[in-house]
Amino acid sequence: MQAPPEQLEAKTVTVIGGGVAGMSAACALAEAGYRVQLVERRGYLGGRASSYLHPGVNEVIDNCQHVLFGCCTNLIGFYRRIGVEKKIHWTTGMTMIEPGGRRSLLGPSWLPAPLHGLPKLLSASAFSRVDKLALARGFQAMMRPIAPESTETLADWLRRNKQTPGAIERFWRLVIASALNADLDAISVPYAAKVIRELFMNSAQAGAMGMSSVPISELYGSAKTFLEERGSTVRLNASVESAEWDEGVSEWSVHTRNGTLVSEFLVIALPFEAMQKLLPNLPPVPHAEELARQTETFTHWPICSVHLWFDREITDLPHAVLLDREIHWMYNKSVLQPGRKRKGSYLELVQSASRDFAARERNEAIDQALGELAEFFPQVKEAKLEKAALVKEVRATFGVPPGIDGVRPPTAAPWPNCFLAGDWVSTGWPSTMESAARSGHIAADAICASEIAECKFLAPDLKPRGLMRWLTVNG
Ligand SMILES: Cc1cc2nc3c(=O)[nH]c(=O)nc-3n(C[C@H](O)[C@H](O)[C@H](O)COP(=O)(O)OP(=O)(O)OC[C@H]3O[C@@H](n4cnc5c(N)ncnc54)[C@H](O)[C@@H]3O)c2cc1C
Repeated sequence: MQAPPEQLEAKTVTVIGGGVAGMSAACALAEAGYRVQLVERRGYLGGRASSYLHPGVNEVIDNCQHVLFGCCTNLIGFYRRIGVEKKIHWTTGMTMIEPGGRRSLLGPSWLPAPLHGLPKLLSASAFSRVDKLALARGFQAMMRPIAPESTETLADWLRRNKQTPGAIERFWRLVIASALNADLDAISVPYAAKVIRELFMNSAQAGAMGMSSVPISELYGSAKTFLEERGSTVRLNASVESAEWDEGVSEWSVHTRNGTLVSEFLVIALPFEAMQKLLPNLPPVPHAEELARQTETFTHWPICSVHLWFDREITDLPHAVLLDREIHWMYNKSVLQPGRKRKGSYLELVQSASRDFAARERNEAIDQALGELAEFFPQVKEAKLEKAALVKEVRATFGVPPGIDGVRPPTAAPWPNCFLAGDWVSTGWPSTMESAARSGHIAADAICASEIAECKFLAPDLKPRGLMRWLTVNG
Protein backbone atom coordinates (compact mmCIF):
# COMPACT_ATOMS: atom_id res chain seq x y z
CA MET A 1 0.00 0.00 0.00
CA GLN A 2 1.31 3.43 -0.82
CA ALA A 3 1.58 6.15 1.80
CA PRO A 4 -0.71 9.14 1.38
CA PRO A 5 1.44 11.91 -0.16
CA GLU A 6 0.55 14.48 2.54
CA GLN A 7 2.18 12.33 5.25
CA LEU A 8 5.46 12.47 3.39
CA GLU A 9 5.23 16.09 2.27
CA ALA A 10 8.12 17.41 4.29
CA LYS A 11 10.57 14.63 3.44
CA THR A 12 13.32 15.30 0.95
CA VAL A 13 15.61 12.80 -0.78
CA THR A 14 18.79 13.64 -2.68
CA VAL A 15 19.58 11.08 -5.39
CA ILE A 16 23.15 11.22 -6.68
CA GLY A 17 23.52 9.94 -10.26
CA GLY A 18 21.08 10.32 -13.16
CA GLY A 19 21.54 6.88 -14.75
CA VAL A 20 18.74 4.31 -14.90
CA ALA A 21 19.29 3.45 -11.20
CA GLY A 22 19.06 7.06 -10.02
CA MET A 23 16.14 7.90 -12.30
CA SER A 24 14.10 4.85 -11.32
CA ALA A 25 14.66 5.53 -7.60
CA ALA A 26 13.86 9.22 -8.03
CA CYS A 27 10.64 8.64 -10.02
CA ALA A 28 9.39 5.97 -7.62
CA LEU A 29 10.06 8.21 -4.61
CA ALA A 30 8.42 11.20 -6.29
CA GLU A 31 5.37 9.03 -6.94
CA ALA A 32 5.33 8.03 -3.25
CA GLY A 33 5.17 11.72 -2.32
CA TYR A 34 8.79 12.54 -1.52
CA ARG A 35 10.44 15.72 -2.75
CA VAL A 36 13.40 14.46 -4.76
CA GLN A 37 16.54 16.31 -5.82
CA LEU A 38 18.21 14.32 -8.60
CA VAL A 39 21.82 15.40 -9.13
CA GLU A 40 23.76 14.41 -12.25
CA ARG A 41 27.35 15.22 -13.15
CA ARG A 42 26.74 15.35 -16.91
CA GLY A 43 24.52 17.70 -18.86
CA TYR A 44 21.99 14.94 -19.59
CA LEU A 45 20.30 11.96 -17.92
CA GLY A 46 20.86 8.29 -18.79
CA GLY A 47 24.43 7.57 -17.70
CA ARG A 48 25.80 4.56 -19.56
CA ALA A 49 22.58 4.25 -21.56
CA SER A 50 22.37 7.58 -23.40
CA SER A 51 22.36 9.20 -26.82
CA TYR A 52 24.10 12.38 -27.88
CA LEU A 53 24.99 14.46 -30.92
CA HIS A 54 28.22 12.96 -32.25
CA PRO A 55 30.25 15.91 -33.56
CA GLY A 56 32.21 13.81 -36.09
CA VAL A 57 29.10 12.68 -38.00
CA ASN A 58 26.61 15.37 -36.89
CA GLU A 59 24.03 12.71 -35.95
CA VAL A 60 22.36 11.83 -32.66
CA ILE A 61 23.57 8.32 -31.83
CA ASP A 62 23.06 5.97 -28.89
CA ASN A 63 26.32 5.42 -27.02
CA CYS A 64 25.45 1.83 -27.97
CA GLN A 65 22.34 -0.12 -28.87
CA HIS A 66 20.67 -1.08 -25.60
CA VAL A 67 18.34 -4.07 -25.59
CA LEU A 68 15.97 -5.22 -22.89
CA PHE A 69 13.91 -8.37 -22.54
CA GLY A 70 10.40 -9.19 -21.40
CA CYS A 71 11.84 -10.44 -18.10
CA CYS A 72 13.12 -6.91 -17.28
CA THR A 73 10.08 -6.20 -15.14
CA ASN A 74 11.56 -3.25 -13.23
CA LEU A 75 12.93 -1.46 -16.27
CA ILE A 76 9.59 -1.91 -18.00
CA GLY A 77 7.86 -0.67 -14.82
CA PHE A 78 10.09 2.43 -14.84
CA TYR A 79 9.30 3.07 -18.52
CA ARG A 80 5.61 2.65 -17.76
CA ARG A 81 5.81 5.05 -14.82
CA ILE A 82 7.27 7.81 -17.01
CA GLY A 83 4.93 6.96 -19.91
CA VAL A 84 7.42 5.77 -22.54
CA GLU A 85 6.72 2.02 -22.67
CA LYS A 86 5.04 2.42 -26.08
CA LYS A 87 8.36 3.65 -27.49
CA ILE A 88 9.86 0.19 -27.10
CA HIS A 89 9.80 -1.99 -30.21
CA TRP A 90 9.37 -5.69 -29.28
CA THR A 91 10.40 -8.74 -31.28
CA THR A 92 10.60 -12.47 -30.57
CA GLY A 93 12.76 -13.68 -33.47
CA MET A 94 16.56 -13.72 -33.59
CA THR A 95 18.18 -14.10 -37.02
CA MET A 96 21.64 -15.67 -37.05
CA ILE A 97 23.68 -15.14 -40.22
CA GLU A 98 26.75 -17.09 -41.28
CA PRO A 99 29.50 -15.50 -43.37
CA GLY A 100 28.21 -15.97 -46.93
CA GLY A 101 24.69 -15.03 -45.91
CA ARG A 102 22.97 -18.28 -44.88
CA ARG A 103 20.34 -17.48 -42.24
CA SER A 104 18.80 -19.33 -39.28
CA LEU A 105 15.89 -18.02 -37.27
CA LEU A 106 15.62 -18.73 -33.55
CA GLY A 107 12.46 -17.90 -31.67
CA PRO A 108 9.33 -19.25 -30.01
CA SER A 109 6.74 -21.68 -31.39
CA TRP A 110 3.35 -22.96 -30.19
CA LEU A 111 5.04 -25.51 -27.89
CA PRO A 112 4.83 -24.79 -24.15
CA ALA A 113 7.86 -23.43 -22.27
CA PRO A 114 10.61 -24.58 -21.98
CA LEU A 115 10.15 -26.38 -25.31
CA HIS A 116 8.93 -23.30 -27.21
CA GLY A 117 12.32 -22.56 -28.81
CA LEU A 118 13.03 -26.17 -29.78
CA PRO A 119 11.47 -26.41 -33.30
CA LYS A 120 13.39 -23.41 -34.63
CA LEU A 121 16.62 -24.54 -32.96
CA LEU A 122 16.24 -27.97 -34.56
CA SER A 123 15.79 -26.45 -38.01
CA ALA A 124 18.64 -23.91 -37.62
CA SER A 125 21.36 -24.47 -40.22
CA ALA A 126 23.83 -22.54 -38.05
CA PHE A 127 24.18 -25.63 -35.85
CA SER A 128 25.14 -29.18 -36.82
CA ARG A 129 23.20 -32.16 -35.49
CA VAL A 130 25.80 -32.76 -32.76
CA ASP A 131 25.75 -29.05 -31.83
CA LYS A 132 21.98 -29.23 -31.44
CA LEU A 133 22.19 -32.32 -29.25
CA ALA A 134 24.87 -30.64 -27.15
CA LEU A 135 22.74 -27.50 -26.78
CA ALA A 136 19.66 -29.51 -25.78
CA ARG A 137 21.80 -31.29 -23.16
CA GLY A 138 23.26 -27.99 -22.02
CA PHE A 139 19.84 -26.36 -21.60
CA GLN A 140 18.65 -29.37 -19.63
CA ALA A 141 21.72 -29.20 -17.38
CA MET A 142 21.10 -25.48 -16.77
CA MET A 143 17.70 -26.47 -15.33
CA ARG A 144 19.35 -28.36 -12.48
CA PRO A 145 19.93 -26.56 -9.18
CA ILE A 146 23.21 -24.61 -9.18
CA ALA A 147 24.66 -23.46 -5.88
CA PRO A 148 24.85 -19.66 -5.90
CA GLU A 149 28.33 -19.90 -4.33
CA SER A 150 29.58 -22.23 -7.12
CA THR A 151 33.18 -21.38 -8.05
CA GLU A 152 32.99 -22.99 -11.47
CA THR A 153 33.40 -20.75 -14.52
CA LEU A 154 31.14 -21.07 -17.54
CA ALA A 155 34.13 -22.26 -19.62
CA ASP A 156 34.73 -25.18 -17.19
CA TRP A 157 31.03 -25.94 -17.04
CA LEU A 158 30.82 -26.12 -20.86
CA ARG A 159 33.76 -28.55 -20.94
CA ARG A 160 32.22 -30.66 -18.17
CA ASN A 161 28.89 -30.73 -20.00
CA LYS A 162 30.57 -31.73 -23.27
CA GLN A 163 29.51 -28.77 -25.36
CA THR A 164 30.80 -28.91 -28.95
CA PRO A 165 33.01 -26.19 -30.52
CA GLY A 166 30.07 -25.13 -32.74
CA ALA A 167 27.69 -24.81 -29.78
CA ILE A 168 30.32 -22.94 -27.77
CA GLU A 169 31.34 -20.47 -30.46
CA ARG A 170 27.97 -19.80 -32.03
CA PHE A 171 25.75 -19.93 -28.98
CA TRP A 172 27.48 -19.83 -25.61
CA ARG A 173 30.12 -17.28 -26.59
CA LEU A 174 28.08 -15.23 -29.00
CA VAL A 175 24.73 -15.11 -27.24
CA ILE A 176 25.32 -15.86 -23.55
CA ALA A 177 28.82 -14.44 -23.00
CA SER A 178 27.86 -11.42 -25.03
CA ALA A 179 24.70 -10.87 -22.95
CA LEU A 180 26.93 -10.99 -19.85
CA ASN A 181 29.69 -9.06 -21.66
CA ALA A 182 32.69 -11.14 -20.53
CA ASP A 183 34.86 -14.07 -21.62
CA LEU A 184 33.55 -17.57 -20.91
CA ASP A 185 36.27 -18.13 -18.30
CA ALA A 186 35.22 -14.98 -16.43
CA ILE A 187 31.53 -15.81 -16.03
CA SER A 188 30.01 -17.59 -13.04
CA VAL A 189 27.59 -20.41 -13.84
CA PRO A 190 24.62 -19.06 -11.83
CA TYR A 191 24.63 -15.88 -13.95
CA ALA A 192 24.81 -17.89 -17.18
CA ALA A 193 21.95 -20.06 -15.91
CA LYS A 194 19.91 -16.95 -15.15
CA VAL A 195 20.30 -15.70 -18.72
CA ILE A 196 19.44 -19.11 -20.21
CA ARG A 197 16.37 -19.56 -18.03
CA GLU A 198 15.04 -16.02 -18.47
CA LEU A 199 15.74 -15.61 -22.19
CA PHE A 200 15.17 -19.12 -23.50
CA MET A 201 13.22 -21.25 -21.04
CA ASN A 202 10.77 -19.49 -18.70
CA SER A 203 8.41 -18.20 -21.39
CA ALA A 204 8.32 -16.63 -24.84
CA GLN A 205 7.25 -13.38 -23.18
CA ALA A 206 10.30 -13.32 -20.89
CA GLY A 207 12.63 -13.81 -23.86
CA ALA A 208 11.05 -11.18 -26.13
CA MET A 209 13.62 -8.55 -27.04
CA GLY A 210 12.90 -4.82 -26.80
CA MET A 211 14.70 -1.86 -28.39
CA SER A 212 13.94 1.82 -28.16
CA SER A 213 12.30 3.26 -31.26
CA VAL A 214 13.80 6.68 -30.46
CA PRO A 215 17.36 7.67 -29.50
CA ILE A 216 17.60 6.36 -25.96
CA SER A 217 18.00 9.72 -24.19
CA GLU A 218 14.66 10.82 -25.64
CA LEU A 219 13.06 8.37 -23.23
CA TYR A 220 14.50 10.20 -20.25
CA GLY A 221 13.11 13.66 -21.05
CA SER A 222 9.90 12.14 -19.69
CA ALA A 223 11.64 11.20 -16.41
CA LYS A 224 12.65 14.85 -15.93
CA THR A 225 9.10 16.02 -16.68
CA PHE A 226 7.66 13.33 -14.37
CA LEU A 227 9.85 14.57 -11.51
CA GLU A 228 9.28 18.28 -12.08
CA GLU A 229 5.50 17.84 -12.29
CA ARG A 230 5.65 16.33 -8.79
CA GLY A 231 7.61 19.18 -7.24
CA SER A 232 10.98 17.45 -7.54
CA THR A 233 14.07 18.89 -9.22
CA VAL A 234 16.76 17.67 -11.61
CA ARG A 235 20.17 19.33 -11.43
CA LEU A 236 22.41 18.63 -14.39
CA ASN A 237 26.12 19.51 -14.68
CA ALA A 238 26.37 19.11 -10.91
CA SER A 239 29.09 16.74 -9.77
CA VAL A 240 28.79 15.69 -6.14
CA GLU A 241 32.12 16.15 -4.40
CA SER A 242 31.29 15.27 -0.78
CA ALA A 243 28.45 14.74 1.65
CA GLU A 244 28.08 14.96 5.41
CA TRP A 245 25.52 13.78 7.91
CA ASP A 246 24.34 16.05 10.74
CA GLU A 247 23.19 13.78 13.53
CA GLY A 248 21.64 16.71 15.48
CA VAL A 249 19.07 17.55 12.84
CA SER A 250 19.16 14.18 11.01
CA GLU A 251 20.05 15.74 7.69
CA TRP A 252 22.42 15.14 4.82
CA SER A 253 24.30 18.01 3.18
CA VAL A 254 25.45 17.10 -0.31
CA HIS A 255 28.07 19.41 -1.78
CA THR A 256 28.46 20.11 -5.48
CA ARG A 257 30.59 22.79 -7.09
CA ASN A 258 27.42 24.81 -7.65
CA GLY A 259 26.03 24.61 -4.14
CA THR A 260 24.81 22.41 -1.30
CA LEU A 261 21.64 20.33 -1.18
CA VAL A 262 20.07 19.40 2.15
CA SER A 263 17.79 16.41 2.61
CA GLU A 264 16.58 13.83 5.12
CA PHE A 265 17.55 10.89 2.90
CA LEU A 266 20.31 10.12 0.47
CA VAL A 267 20.42 7.61 -2.40
CA ILE A 268 23.86 7.13 -3.94
CA ALA A 269 23.24 5.72 -7.43
CA LEU A 270 26.76 5.75 -8.84
CA PRO A 271 28.80 3.13 -10.70
CA PHE A 272 31.36 1.36 -8.51
CA GLU A 273 34.33 3.44 -9.71
CA ALA A 274 32.53 6.74 -8.97
CA MET A 275 31.51 5.36 -5.56
CA GLN A 276 35.17 4.54 -4.93
CA LYS A 277 36.10 8.17 -5.65
CA LEU A 278 33.36 9.62 -3.45
CA LEU A 279 33.97 7.32 -0.46
CA PRO A 280 36.88 9.30 1.10
CA ASN A 281 34.61 12.37 1.08
CA LEU A 282 31.75 10.73 2.96
CA PRO A 283 31.55 10.54 6.77
CA PRO A 284 34.03 7.99 8.18
CA VAL A 285 32.16 4.96 9.56
CA PRO A 286 33.64 1.48 10.19
CA HIS A 287 31.72 -0.33 7.45
CA ALA A 288 32.76 2.18 4.81
CA GLU A 289 36.12 0.41 4.65
CA GLU A 290 34.41 -2.83 3.74
CA LEU A 291 32.49 -1.01 1.03
CA ALA A 292 35.78 0.43 -0.28
CA ARG A 293 37.24 -3.08 -0.43
CA GLN A 294 34.14 -4.32 -2.25
CA THR A 295 34.38 -1.62 -4.93
CA GLU A 296 38.00 -2.67 -5.57
CA THR A 297 36.92 -6.21 -6.47
CA PHE A 298 34.91 -5.20 -9.53
CA THR A 299 36.38 -5.14 -13.05
CA HIS A 300 35.19 -3.42 -16.20
CA TRP A 301 34.47 -4.99 -19.57
CA PRO A 302 34.30 -2.94 -22.78
CA ILE A 303 31.68 -2.74 -25.53
CA CYS A 304 32.41 -1.08 -28.87
CA SER A 305 30.00 0.00 -31.56
CA VAL A 306 30.69 0.96 -35.16
CA HIS A 307 28.08 3.26 -36.72
CA LEU A 308 27.85 3.24 -40.53
CA TRP A 309 25.76 5.40 -42.86
CA PHE A 310 25.30 4.08 -46.41
CA ASP A 311 23.77 5.68 -49.48
CA ARG A 312 21.30 2.79 -49.86
CA GLU A 313 19.50 0.05 -48.02
CA ILE A 314 21.80 -2.79 -46.98
CA THR A 315 19.16 -5.06 -45.43
CA ASP A 316 15.56 -4.88 -44.29
CA LEU A 317 16.33 -7.03 -41.24
CA PRO A 318 15.91 -4.95 -38.08
CA HIS A 319 18.72 -6.80 -36.32
CA ALA A 320 20.84 -9.96 -36.61
CA VAL A 321 23.48 -12.01 -34.87
CA LEU A 322 26.60 -12.26 -37.07
CA LEU A 323 28.48 -15.53 -36.66
CA ASP A 324 32.19 -16.36 -36.61
CA ARG A 325 33.55 -12.82 -36.91
CA GLU A 326 34.65 -10.04 -34.57
CA ILE A 327 31.46 -8.04 -35.01
CA HIS A 328 28.64 -9.76 -33.15
CA TRP A 329 25.39 -7.87 -33.57
CA MET A 330 23.90 -5.79 -36.36
CA TYR A 331 21.19 -3.25 -35.53
CA ASN A 332 19.47 -1.56 -38.43
CA LYS A 333 18.79 1.83 -36.86
CA SER A 334 16.92 3.08 -39.96
CA VAL A 335 14.31 0.37 -39.27
CA LEU A 336 14.44 0.40 -35.46
CA GLN A 337 14.26 4.18 -35.13
CA PRO A 338 11.95 5.21 -37.99
CA GLY A 339 12.01 8.87 -36.91
CA ARG A 340 15.45 9.12 -38.54
CA LYS A 341 14.15 10.23 -41.91
CA ARG A 342 17.01 10.26 -44.37
CA LYS A 343 17.91 8.52 -47.59
CA GLY A 344 20.11 5.45 -47.42
CA SER A 345 20.55 3.48 -44.22
CA TYR A 346 22.21 3.60 -40.84
CA LEU A 347 23.56 0.38 -39.30
CA GLU A 348 25.17 -0.10 -35.90
CA LEU A 349 27.54 -3.03 -35.34
CA VAL A 350 28.33 -4.09 -31.78
CA GLN A 351 31.29 -6.00 -30.37
CA SER A 352 30.81 -7.22 -26.81
CA ALA A 353 33.53 -8.16 -24.34
CA SER A 354 36.27 -7.58 -26.88
CA ARG A 355 39.34 -6.02 -25.33
CA ASP A 356 41.21 -6.61 -28.62
CA PHE A 357 38.67 -4.67 -30.63
CA ALA A 358 38.61 -1.91 -28.00
CA ALA A 359 42.38 -1.51 -28.46
CA ARG A 360 42.05 -0.82 -32.21
CA GLU A 361 42.54 2.58 -33.82
CA ARG A 362 39.41 4.23 -35.26
CA ASN A 363 40.10 3.62 -38.96
CA GLU A 364 41.35 0.09 -38.43
CA ALA A 365 38.24 -0.79 -36.38
CA ILE A 366 35.86 0.72 -38.95
CA ASP A 367 37.61 -1.03 -41.87
CA GLN A 368 37.51 -4.33 -40.02
CA ALA A 369 33.78 -3.97 -39.27
CA LEU A 370 32.98 -2.89 -42.83
CA GLY A 371 34.92 -5.79 -44.35
CA GLU A 372 33.17 -8.28 -42.10
CA LEU A 373 29.73 -6.76 -42.76
CA ALA A 374 30.23 -7.32 -46.50
CA GLU A 375 30.64 -11.05 -45.82
CA PHE A 376 27.08 -11.15 -44.47
CA PHE A 377 25.46 -8.57 -46.76
CA PRO A 378 27.01 -8.45 -50.28
CA GLN A 379 25.15 -5.15 -50.95
CA VAL A 380 27.80 -3.48 -48.79
CA LYS A 381 30.33 -3.88 -51.65
CA GLU A 382 28.14 -1.83 -54.03
CA ALA A 383 27.11 0.77 -51.48
CA LYS A 384 28.87 4.05 -50.75
CA LEU A 385 29.84 4.55 -47.13
CA GLU A 386 28.87 8.16 -46.43
CA LYS A 387 30.18 8.47 -42.88
CA ALA A 388 31.19 6.35 -39.93
CA ALA A 389 31.79 6.61 -36.21
CA LEU A 390 33.39 4.37 -33.62
CA VAL A 391 32.26 4.47 -30.00
CA LYS A 392 34.40 2.70 -27.42
CA GLU A 393 32.92 2.28 -23.96
CA VAL A 394 35.78 0.78 -21.99
CA ARG A 395 33.84 0.87 -18.72
CA ALA A 396 30.62 -0.49 -20.17
CA THR A 397 29.74 -3.16 -17.62
CA PHE A 398 31.17 -5.00 -14.62
CA GLY A 399 32.14 -8.67 -14.87
CA VAL A 400 30.29 -11.47 -13.07
CA PRO A 401 33.05 -13.99 -12.22
CA PRO A 402 32.52 -16.68 -9.56
CA GLY A 403 32.31 -15.08 -6.12
CA ILE A 404 30.96 -11.72 -7.31
CA ASP A 405 27.76 -12.02 -5.27
CA GLY A 406 29.86 -12.05 -2.10
CA VAL A 407 31.04 -8.51 -2.80
CA ARG A 408 27.95 -6.87 -4.27
CA PRO A 409 26.86 -4.53 -1.46
CA PRO A 410 23.32 -4.43 -0.07
CA THR A 411 21.02 -1.45 -0.54
CA ALA A 412 21.39 -0.33 3.08
CA ALA A 413 24.55 1.80 3.18
CA PRO A 414 26.81 2.08 6.24
CA TRP A 415 25.54 5.64 6.98
CA PRO A 416 22.22 6.71 8.51
CA ASN A 417 19.31 7.37 6.14
CA CYS A 418 21.50 6.45 3.18
CA PHE A 419 20.89 3.80 0.52
CA LEU A 420 22.92 2.49 -2.39
CA ALA A 421 21.66 1.91 -5.92
CA GLY A 422 23.39 1.18 -9.23
CA ASP A 423 23.59 -1.89 -11.44
CA TRP A 424 26.48 -3.28 -9.31
CA VAL A 425 24.67 -3.48 -5.96
CA SER A 426 23.18 -6.76 -4.83
CA THR A 427 20.26 -7.40 -7.19
CA GLY A 428 21.14 -10.89 -8.48
CA TRP A 429 21.14 -9.47 -12.02
CA PRO A 430 24.17 -8.89 -14.22
CA SER A 431 25.32 -5.42 -15.29
CA THR A 432 22.18 -4.31 -17.11
CA MET A 433 19.54 -1.60 -17.15
CA GLU A 434 17.24 -4.07 -15.35
CA SER A 435 19.73 -4.44 -12.52
CA ALA A 436 19.97 -0.64 -12.33
CA ALA A 437 16.16 -0.17 -12.32
CA ARG A 438 15.79 -2.97 -9.77
CA SER A 439 18.38 -1.36 -7.47
CA GLY A 440 16.54 1.96 -7.73
CA HIS A 441 13.21 0.38 -6.81
CA ILE A 442 14.76 -1.54 -3.90
CA ALA A 443 16.25 1.72 -2.58
CA ALA A 444 12.88 3.49 -2.93
CA ASP A 445 11.12 0.65 -1.06
CA ALA A 446 13.77 0.81 1.68
CA ILE A 447 13.24 4.54 2.21
CA CYS A 448 9.46 4.10 2.39
CA ALA A 449 9.90 1.15 4.76
CA SER A 450 12.11 3.23 7.09
CA GLU A 451 9.13 5.53 7.53
CA ILE A 452 5.45 4.92 7.92
CA ALA A 453 4.93 3.86 4.38
CA GLU A 454 4.89 0.46 2.81
CA CYS A 455 5.70 0.88 -0.86
CA LYS A 456 6.12 -1.87 -3.37
CA PHE A 457 8.06 -0.53 -6.29
CA LEU A 458 10.20 -3.64 -6.74
CA ALA A 459 8.35 -5.56 -9.44
CA PRO A 460 8.27 -9.35 -9.09
CA ASP A 461 9.85 -11.58 -11.72
CA LEU A 462 7.64 -12.86 -14.52
CA LYS A 463 6.11 -16.19 -13.60
CA PRO A 464 7.38 -19.14 -15.66
CA ARG A 465 4.79 -20.43 -18.10
CA GLY A 466 3.87 -23.78 -19.67
CA LEU A 467 5.69 -26.77 -18.24
CA MET A 468 8.17 -24.45 -16.53
CA ARG A 469 5.51 -23.81 -13.87
CA TRP A 470 6.09 -27.34 -12.60
CA LEU A 471 9.80 -27.60 -13.20
CA THR A 472 11.40 -26.09 -10.14
CA VAL A 473 14.90 -24.74 -10.44
CA ASN A 474 16.93 -22.74 -8.03
CA GLY A 475 20.34 -21.09 -7.92
C1 LIG B 1 28.16 0.29 -24.58
C2 LIG B 1 27.16 -0.27 -23.60
C3 LIG B 1 26.21 -1.19 -24.01
C4 LIG B 1 25.30 -1.71 -23.10
N1 LIG B 1 24.32 -2.55 -23.53
C5 LIG B 1 23.34 -2.90 -22.67
C6 LIG B 1 22.19 -3.58 -23.14
O1 LIG B 1 22.06 -3.87 -24.32
N2 LIG B 1 21.22 -3.92 -22.24
C7 LIG B 1 21.33 -3.57 -20.92
O2 LIG B 1 20.40 -3.87 -20.16
N3 LIG B 1 22.41 -2.94 -20.45
C8 LIG B 1 23.41 -2.57 -21.28
N4 LIG B 1 24.48 -1.88 -20.83
C9 LIG B 1 24.64 -1.67 -19.37
C10 LIG B 1 23.73 -0.53 -18.87
O3 LIG B 1 23.91 0.62 -19.66
C11 LIG B 1 24.09 -0.24 -17.41
O4 LIG B 1 24.04 -1.42 -16.66
C12 LIG B 1 23.12 0.76 -16.78
O5 LIG B 1 22.83 1.82 -17.64
C13 LIG B 1 23.74 1.26 -15.48
O6 LIG B 1 22.93 2.24 -14.90
P1 LIG B 1 23.36 2.90 -13.52
O7 LIG B 1 22.35 3.95 -13.24
O8 LIG B 1 23.59 1.85 -12.52
O9 LIG B 1 24.80 3.56 -13.78
P2 LIG B 1 25.21 4.72 -14.79
O10 LIG B 1 24.44 4.61 -16.04
O11 LIG B 1 26.69 4.67 -14.88
O12 LIG B 1 24.74 6.05 -14.06
C14 LIG B 1 25.47 6.69 -13.05
C15 LIG B 1 25.37 8.20 -13.25
O13 LIG B 1 26.08 8.85 -12.19
C16 LIG B 1 26.69 10.00 -12.73
N5 LIG B 1 27.77 10.40 -11.83
C17 LIG B 1 29.00 9.83 -11.69
N6 LIG B 1 29.69 10.47 -10.73
C18 LIG B 1 28.88 11.45 -10.26
C19 LIG B 1 29.02 12.45 -9.24
N7 LIG B 1 30.14 12.54 -8.51
N8 LIG B 1 28.00 13.31 -9.04
C20 LIG B 1 26.84 13.22 -9.77
N9 LIG B 1 26.66 12.30 -10.73
C21 LIG B 1 27.66 11.42 -10.97
C22 LIG B 1 27.16 9.53 -14.10
O14 LIG B 1 27.40 10.64 -14.95
C23 LIG B 1 25.98 8.68 -14.54
O15 LIG B 1 25.01 9.43 -15.26
C24 LIG B 1 25.39 -1.34 -21.73
C25 LIG B 1 26.34 -0.41 -21.32
C26 LIG B 1 27.19 0.15 -22.24
C27 LIG B 1 28.16 1.21 -21.79
